[in-house]
Amino acid sequence: MKDICNLTKTELKKEIEESGEKPFRAKQIFSWLHARGAESFDDMTDLPKAFRQTLKDGYLPGSLEIEAVKRSRLDGTVKYLFALSDGGLIEGVFMAYRDWNTACISSQAGCAMGCRFCASTVNGLDRDLTAGEMAEEIYLMERDTGKHISNVVIMGSGEPLLNYEELMRFIDIMTDPDGRGMSQRSITVSTCGIVPGIIRLSKEKKNGAHLQVNLAVSLHAATDEKRKKLMPVAEKYGIAELMKAVGEYYRSTHRKITFEYALIEGVNDSDEDARELAERIKEAGVPHLVNLIPVNPVTESAFRRPARQKCDNFKNKLENFGINGSIRRELGSDIDGACGQLRMRSLGRGSKAGT
Ligand code: SAH
Repeated sequence: MKDICNLTKTELKKEIEESGEKPFRAKQIFSWLHARGAESFDDMTDLPKAFRQTLKDGYLPGSLEIEAVKRSRLDGTVKYLFALSDGGLIEGVFMAYRDWNTACISSQAGCAMGCRFCASTVNGLDRDLTAGEMAEEIYLMERDTGKHISNVVIMGSGEPLLNYEELMRFIDIMTDPDGRGMSQRSITVSTCGIVPGIIRLSKEKKNGAHLQVNLAVSLHAATDEKRKKLMPVAEKYGIAELMKAVGEYYRSTHRKITFEYALIEGVNDSDEDARELAERIKEAGVPHLVNLIPVNPVTESAFRRPARQKCDNFKNKLENFGINGSIRRELGSDIDGACGQLRMRSLGRGSKAGT
């Protein structure tokens, strides 16, 4: 059966109309699913009983389930392992900040990108997630925590720009004023640097205006040579080409760009690395923030995070060159730091966070 959460309002309207029901019912259902937290069709109390039954016979009210949960005692972070209806597993993280809550969600089960420091990619790509599955990651976190999520970062497993159509449908569902009505600016798409995807995203329009989602680019090294050693995608798209696309994204959207840089001891954390990184970002000429992430060690790789002082030093070096950097505050450090590790453990690969 079809997951009804995976329909945009337009798609739902079409199906409801085709079934001979009144079109306004689509809006009601959409609102129940995406704004009013309905878990079942029986929660939709303003729908006639017979119609609820028709819906039950034709659709599932969601397809994702919580498989495992880990709660931090330090800072309110909650890590989730979700089970897909076909048995696949994905991860998501709920992060509590002072004034808002953010969901980090997956866009694919597994990942094909092969970044050497990332646990999500070790077994390759399972499959793309649907827009509905992405949305349900957020809804299940809200149900479990009882808290409203206002921001979404697509930084869980997978490469969102290689699941482009579903990403667009997800943004459509999230931002629909008859559903959650989330602001485009509350959504961040993180990419390992899929140049055609960035260019396509920079051209994306809604109601005549450029889409205003935030772009985060995982750079991790400032030269092609070094980047290729960490990220196979760098074989395909060089930094010059990537920065050109990023510039295009900024000129279309006027959104500040985030560059992610996982600091790895002895690999990309020297003063020279900081200088080269500053140069690349200056050449791009875009308002930016460099997010420095001390790498989460995974057993699949021998990478280690530099000492705190070395990280501070790297950030200061960047700032001396006029580049804004911040060291990512570590959340949930008591509950398995690294990306993709809950899933890996469940798949029996025994990944261990060294944090
Ligand atoms: N494919 C997208 C989004 C998923 S990865 C991308 O590459 O951006 C989200 C972020 O987590 C990326 O910046 C990625 O490089 C980073 N990451 C993955 N494994 C990590 C690890 N072990 N330590 C620190 N950051 C990691």
